[in-house]
Amino acid sequence: MTAASETADAVVIGAGVIGAAVALELARGGRSVVVVDRGPGVGTGSTSASSAIIRFSYSTRDAILAAWEAGAMWRDWAGHLGAVDPDGMCRFIGTGNLILRTVGYDGSAMLELWRELGIPFDDLDADQLAERFPWLDTGKYYPPKPIDDPAFADEASERLTAIFQPASGFIDDPSLAAKNLAFAARRHGARFRIRSEVTAVLRDGEVAAGVRLADGSTISAPVVVNAAGPHSSHINRIAGVVDDMNISNRALRQEVFTAPAPAGASLEEGGPLVADLDVGQYFRPQPGGTLLIGGTEPECDPLHWVDDPDANSPHPTVEVWETYMTRLARRIPDFGMPTQPTGIAALYDVTDDWVPIYDRSNLHGFFLACGTSGNQFKNAPIAGQFVRAIVDATMSGHDHDADPVQFRGALTGHTIDLGAFSRRREPAVTSGTVMG
Ligand SMILES: Cc1cc2nc3c(=O)[nH]c(=O)nc-3n(C[C@H](O)[C@H](O)[C@H](O)COP(=O)(O)OP(=O)(O)OC[C@H]3O[C@@H](n4cnc5c(N)ncnc54)[C@H](O)[C@@H]3O)c2cc1C
Repeated sequence: MTAASETADAVVIGAGVIGAAVALELARGGRSVVVVDRGPGVGTGSTSASSAIIRFSYSTRDAILAAWEAGAMWRDWAGHLGAVDPDGMCRFIGTGNLILRTVGYDGSAMLELWRELGIPFDDLDADQLAERFPWLDTGKYYPPKPIDDPAFADEASERLTAIFQPASGFIDDPSLAAKNLAFAARRHGARFRIRSEVTAVLRDGEVAAGVRLADGSTISAPVVVNAAGPHSSHINRIAGVVDDMNISNRALRQEVFTAPAPAGASLEEGGPLVADLDVGQYFRPQPGGTLLIGGTEPECDPLHWVDDPDANSPHPTVEVWETYMTRLARRIPDFGMPTQPTGIAALYDVTDDWVPIYDRSNLHGFFLACGTSGNQFKNAPIAGQFVRAIVDATMSGHDHDADPVQFRGALTGHTIDLGAFSRRREPAVTSGTVMG
C-alpha cells in the first residue's frame, strides 16, 4: 500500500521557536503551511533549553537592529501574535543587562551603533559600577582560566568598568513562546505534525518539491524551510545544498546550571542579566530566587562539537559545573557553592561566525533558517519575518543572492540588509562566541 501524501504551499522542518515563527509569518502571508517535527511537541528541541535572554549586545549593525526590533515584539507579545493563547502566554521579564568591559570586549563599536539607533544605556565607571552593584567583585581577572590553573587565584589586576542596558531581560518560558507562535500560526491555518521525522527532501530537478517522512508518506510543497535546529546541517546534507554554502553550521554541546542567587543578585532584588567575558560566562536571575549560569566559550575551555545530535547526553558534567560555580564565586564573593549540580546539557547550532543563516539555497524553493548559534531565541519573531521576505522575493523571481532583500524594521524604520545572514557571506567580524 502506498503511504498517504498531502500537499501544501510550504513545509517547515522543525517546530522550535524558529520554525514556529516562520510558520506564523508564511501562514500570515496566505500560504498553506505544514510544520513537521520529529519530537514529542512544539518547542521541545533546543528551544526548551534556552536561557531565553533578550539583549541587544551584538557586533554588527544588522544583528543589533534585528534584536532591537524583535525586543519590541516580545514586549507586546499579544500584539505580535494578534491573539492571546488560551493555554497561557510567555512573559518578558525586564532585568537590564550589565556588560562588564574587558580585553577584547570593550563595547566601543557597539555603543556607537546603540547611539545611532537610540538604544539607551548607562556608561558606568569603576566607582559607579561598585556603588550600583555592591554584591559584585568588580576586579579584572582577564584572561579567563581553568579553575585548576594556579593563576586562577591571582589578585585582580585592575578594576572593571561596565555598560548597563535597561531594556534587556528574558522570556520566562521559551517552550511556551514556541507554543504561542504555533497557536497563532494555527489561527492562520498552519498544521503541525508532531512525531513525524523528515527523512528526505524531495526535488524535481533543481527545484524543491516537498519532503518524505519516516513513515513513507510525503508532503508535496514548492517551499521547504529547514528550521531543524541542531539537526539542520544534516537536513542541508540530505537536501544536497551544502557545497554551495560558504558558511557551515554544526552542533556544539552547551551546559547551563541553576544555583541559589546570592543577596542582591536575585530577580526579586532587581538583579540584572550579567555578561562577564572577563571570567568567561553569563548569568541571569530567574523567578524563585535562583540564577541561571552559562558559558561564553573562553579560549581556555574546550569546545565539544557533536557530530550526531541524537548521541548528545542531556546530563551536565561535574567538571563544567565546578568550573562555572567557581568562576561565579570569583565574581560574587557571597555566592554559596551548591552541594550538587542542577542543570542541563543541550546543543547550539553554531556557524563559523556565530551569525545565523536566514537565506535561500541553490535548490530553488529550499530555504535555510538555521545556524542560530546559541543567540537567536530573541530574534525568532523577526527571523520569521526575514524568512517570509526572502521566500516571497525568491518565489516571485527575485535573485536574493545578487540583490539581497532589504527589510524595513517596523519599530525604527531602519533597513536590515538580509544579505548579512547569507549562506554565501564572508564570515562576519564578531566576538566569535555566543555573544554574536
Ligand atoms: C542552552 C542554550 C541556551 C540558549 N540561550 C539563549 C539565550 O539566552 N538567548 C537567545 O537569544 N538564544 C539562546 N539560545 C539559542 C536559542 O535558544 C536557539 O537559537 C533557538 O531556540 C533555536 O530554535 P530552533 O527552532 O532553530 O531549534 P530547535 O528548538 O532545536 O527546533 C528544531 C526542531 O527540529 C526538529 N527536527 C530536527 N530534525 C528533524 C527532522 N529530520 N524531521 C522533523 N523535525 C526535525 C527537532 O525535533 C526540533 O524540535 C540558547 C540555546 C541553548 C541550547
